[in-house]
This record gives sequence, structure tokens and C-alpha cells, in this order.
Amino acid sequence: MRLSLYSKHTKIVATIGPASCEPGTLRAMIRAGMNVARINFSHGDHQTHGRTIDHIRRIAAEEGTVVAVLCDIQGPKIRIGALREEPMLLKIGDKVTLTVDDVIGANGLISLPHPEFVRDIEAGTTLLLDDGNLQFAVKETDGKNLFCEVVVGGPLKSRKGVSAPNARLTLSAITEKDRQDIEFALSKDCDYIAMSFVRSANDIHELNSLVKRLDAQVSVIAKIEMGEALENIEGIIAVCDGIMVARGDLGIETPAEEVPFHQKRIINLCNEAAKPVITATQMLESMTENPRPTRAEASDVYNAILDGTDAIMLSAESASGKYPVRAVEVMSEIATIAEKNLPYQGDGSQQTQTWRQPGSEPREEMSDAISKATSDISEVIKPKAIVTTTMSGYTTRRVAKERPRTPILCMTPNATTQRLMALVWGVTALQIPEFTTIDEMIRNIIRAAHNQHLVAEGDRLVIIAGVPFGVDGQTNLIKIHTVGEAGEI
Ligand code: PEP
Repeated sequence: MRLSLYSKHTKIVATIGPASCEPGTLRAMIRAGMNVARINFSHGDHQTHGRTIDHIRRIAAEEGTVVAVLCDIQGPKIRIGALREEPMLLKIGDKVTLTVDDVIGANGLISLPHPEFVRDIEAGTTLLLDDGNLQFAVKETDGKNLFCEVVVGGPLKSRKGVSAPNARLTLSAITEKDRQDIEFALSKDCDYIAMSFVRSANDIHELNSLVKRLDAQVSVIAKIEMGEALENIEGIIAVCDGIMVARGDLGIETPAEEVPFHQKRIINLCNEAAKPVITATQMLESMTENPRPTRAEASDVYNAILDGTDAIMLSAESASGKYPVRAVEVMSEIATIAEKNLPYQGDGSQQTQTWRQPGSEPREEMSDAISKATSDISEVIKPKAIVTTTMSGYTTRRVAKERPRTPILCMTPNATTQRLMALVWGVTALQIPEFTTIDEMIRNIIRAAHNQHLVAEGDRLVIIAGVPFGVDGQTNLIKIHTVGEAGEI
């Protein structure tokens, strides 16, 4: 595969599962435009996940590209226990007891083996089961048993999920299974960990402390799928490295009709904060069975890109569907069309609605001023690329925030940063040797881009960086450079 500055800007996250874990399929998905592979720890075992991660790393290297690995940790998902006969048919008005006792469900008694959850539930709480298909009203509780009445009935199967959208839950954000999965993901040097059922910034701090205790480092994506997370969204965005709008569970915890509003608001807040945001779940749902998306699905993907999402995600479509490669191709095609038709402002940056009051930290204001100026300069002098030099990715994210029309090249001595950029809108990242002076930096940049046939002699570039190098969080240098002017190639 040859790198190109003009490939799609929107990144594609594809969930890997039984339909896509074989090397041939992974290679085809990478060629079709997969940038980030999501490993879903709600399913599968460590051996299979480890093999998949090894395949992805090897094939990406063989293809001369970069694919980030995102390990999605299950979190405190509450499920009922096993049922004797399934489905158990429940009708409006039926009386059901959910008990922490380990029983095989029958005759209106169902196991709910989560004592800490049951303890938090009060009489009057509404419980949703099986993605909201069934609804129970809790009439009474003794701390171990929830005595419920069925409000919306239907067939119920073993191990279906239970949620309590309006309850204040005190469950730990990280279960014992999560702890083991996180340790495994870190041992495989994953790039991102996605944390499920985040409620506040404290949950992210808890994960970061665990990662620190394990003497590791990782970037954390907060999955926004709970009402409480929506209340605390600004605090969560401030402390995490990226956000996933997890529309599946979000559409259970809040009315599905509100999900588009939350999606747009979260994307806008992430754009403002220069943190990557993934729009997830049911984007091309019908492609689990069919080779073509519905018109509504094509519109959903297109509109998420217009909203300003960095990345669009496939779940069942690529993990267990019949057309995993085609689903990536369809997303790539929609992204390419959407990006040609983005509503640009006069200064070349994408028009987005602002939800936050201005007034950020001074160093952010300086970086933003430089990034905005870079975007403006690019509109006037039309360079081949904006080149950002970065250790942590900070400078690159701040330029991407401007959504410039000009391609963004990220040049970094840090291999992890190169992989993290796979999630950031519009960025192609290359690893370069370390440097100490500005002249050395320019030489390294031009040689790396030239070796990959991304630039040629005479091409104009706008180069930006933070000086001194390696100090996080400042962007303070702009250089307009013509390739070859200093004899670099
Ligand atoms: C979601 O709920 O939309 C989601 C992405 O989470 P999961 O697939 O882990 O349920």
C-alpha cells in the first residue's frame, strides 16, 4: 500500500471479531481504509485477542501503514443469570423477583448476580432489560431482592443486560474481569483503552491510577453511554484522550430520540478541546446481512462527518457480519464524498457550531492561535501539506481541530504517537529520527516525506512545531519551507 496525502480524512474504526480476525480479511480491511482496529473484550478470550493483535501489527507493517489497536473493556455491565427455559415470556402486570441468589431462573424468580447494583436500586426505579425491549418497575426491595412488576413485556433470554437509567450507581468502574483485560491489553502494547460506562472524570482517574500501578502508559477513550456522563461531559473530556459516542447503550440510558442531540453536542465539545471523537454503533447496521447500506445509514455516516467526528465506527458489521470488508469500503466511499462537500468557512476550516464559551488556558490559546494561523496561511499559499512536528501529538491535534483543507502530516520521533494519530481527523503520521536543532528537524521531516513519495523538490510546506522540543503542550513556531531549499534531499 502506498501512503497518500489525499486519502480520506475521516478515520475508520472497525471492530474485529469472528468475521474479520483472519489475516486475509484484516489485510483487505486495512487496504479498504481501516485505521483503528477495535478489540471488544465483552466477547472472546485473551488467546484469540492476542493472535488478532499480532496479525494486525504484522499486516499493517507489511502494508507500510499504521493501524492503532483500541481495546474496548466491558466495564460493569449488569446481566441477569441463566434461565431454565428460554425465552421466558413475560406479560404486562406479571410479578418478577430479581435476586442476588444464584438460582436458575424460572417461575418469576430470576438471578441478578450483582449485589452492589441491587443495593443501589430503590423502590420506584425503572429497569430496562435486553437493550430496553422489556421494562420492569421496582415495587419493593430488601437490599437482596428486587420485587418488580412488568411494564413492557416480551420474550427474555439468559444473560440479557439490565440498566437503571435514573439510578445513582456506586459500582466501581473497573470490575475484576476488566482489571485482567486491561493488564492483558497493556501487555500487548495496545494504543487506546476504551472504558465503558464512564460516569465522571473520577472513573478515568481510577483507570489511569491502575495503569500507573502497572507501570504502563496508554491513551484512554471514554465511552459516553450513561446519563450521568452527559451531565459530567466537560470534566470527562478534559481528562481523557478521546471520546466514543457509544450510541447503543446511550440510546437505552437516554431516549433514542435524544441521541442525535447528544452526538452533535459531544462532537462539538471534543472538537473545541482538540480531542479525537468516535461516532459508534449501528452506522451501517443492515450491512451485517446485506452488501449495501440503507439510505438512512449512508446519511447517518455522512452527517456524523458533517458534525465534525474524527472517526466512524463499525461494530457487528465488521465483527460478525457477512460483509466486513465491504462495510469498510462503503464507509470510505461515504467519507470521501462527505469531505468533498464539507461546508468550509472563508479561512478554510470546517464550519462547526460552538457550544462552549471562549476562555481557555493561555498556552492553549497560543497553540490555537498558531494552528488557526497555519490554516489561514495554507488557504492563501496552498502548500502541499501542513507539517506538524510533535512528541506527544498535541500540536497535530490542535491543527486537526481547525479542519484545514490542506493535508496534515504528523512527524514524530515517537512510535506510539505515530499510531495514536491513526484516530485523528485528516492526519497522516510518519516516524522520524530524533533531532535537537530546527535545521535537523527540517532535514528529518523532508527526508521522511520524500522517501515516502509524499513531497517532491519545489513543493511548499507549512511547518509548525513546539520549541523547545519534547516539552508537552506548546506550539510556537511556524516556518514556510520549499522542499530542497536547504539542500535537504
Ligand atoms: C455502544 O453501546 O454503542 C458501544 C459502542 O458499546 P458496546 O458495543 O461495548 O456495548
